[in-house]
Amino acid sequence: MKIAVLGAGAMGSLFGGLLAGQNHAVTLIDINEAHLSAIRERGLELEMDSGRQIVANLSVARPEEVESVPDLLIVFTKSLHTRAALASIGRAIGANTTVLTLQNGLGNVERVGELVPLQQILIGVTTWPADLLGPGRVGSHGSGKIRLMSADGIDRPAVTAVAEALDAAGLHCSVDPQVWSAVWEKVAFNAALNSLCAVTGCSVGQLSAVPGGPTLAATIVREVLAVATAKGIQTDVDACLANVNQAIAQHAGHKPSMLQDILAGRRTEVEDINGAVVLAAREMNIPVAHTETLLELVRLVEARSIGKSD
Ligand code: NAD
Repeated sequence: MKIAVLGAGAMGSLFGGLLAGQNHAVTLIDINEAHLSAIRERGLELEMDSGRQIVANLSVARPEEVESVPDLLIVFTKSLHTRAALASIGRAIGANTTVLTLQNGLGNVERVGELVPLQQILIGVTTWPADLLGPGRVGSHGSGKIRLMSADGIDRPAVTAVAEALDAAGLHCSVDPQVWSAVWEKVAFNAALNSLCAVTGCSVGQLSAVPGGPTLAATIVREVLAVATAKGIQTDVDACLANVNQAIAQHAGHKPSMLQDILAGRRTEVEDINGAVVLAAREMNIPVAHTETLLELVRLVEARSIGKSD
């Protein structure tokens, strides 16, 4: 398969590197010149529990250099950069290009759908973790999986082909007709842990320093999933709460991406996580007071941290 990854940071590089290992023709598209140059010169270094490997059979490109049309385009920018990134490679999206988004948050299909017909879009969720360790270097420890489906819910050959390619690359991928449940459960998880850590500066484990930390996280999960229920999307509240508690207990030192973004003076994905939930809740007349309070607090912390870095 001819595959392009748009936004080749932590996740895009991990996925692109593993797919290249299956001899797909992979191009990583990004605007981070230091990362692209390092991969061009030394290959992509992947550090996983299975060991360290250098992936050399990868192409890299800035958006303006992309000319050929891939069979599969995986969008892995942060959600706030999707529109600009896609617009910059619009000419490389053909009528037969399948576009997959595994980004966090809500509204990913709608953003991709501004440029790509709905029947070409796949939506999914991944629990794989990844960190950019430095230019050309990505780490991913532990394991994860991917659940995906076509955005319009129709099971086409391309859905299976993409899922099989990701699965063969070791990424544990399955086609899931209930993908919207998975999307909302991940949004609930992120709305709780990411925003609480971003505002408090706590790592995930430090949220258990006072009993109110995990309780607040659980309240946010319940609020978000109540909105999903009102929209007719079935979710497993107990499983989601268990995942949150497990993360608090086991990922003690982990700093969620929203906190990392605050610390680095970057904009966060909060508008597409807590923000999108609050908008959906207003439409359905569902009270989400805690999620909304956290949204405003993250906005305040974000404004201050961006101001500081200016
Ligand atoms: P990242 O910041 O490491 O990577 C994003 C990349 O997009 C960067 O390299 C950036 O330079 C690039 N980019 C930004 N604007 C661009 C543009 N206009 N054109 C091309 N490239 C552009 O982010 P990440 O951690 O890889 O996360 C990507 C998405 O996956 C997010 O939605 C995130 O929430 C989600 N996600 C992340 C993880 C994780 O563990 N990192 C896990 C699951 C889901």
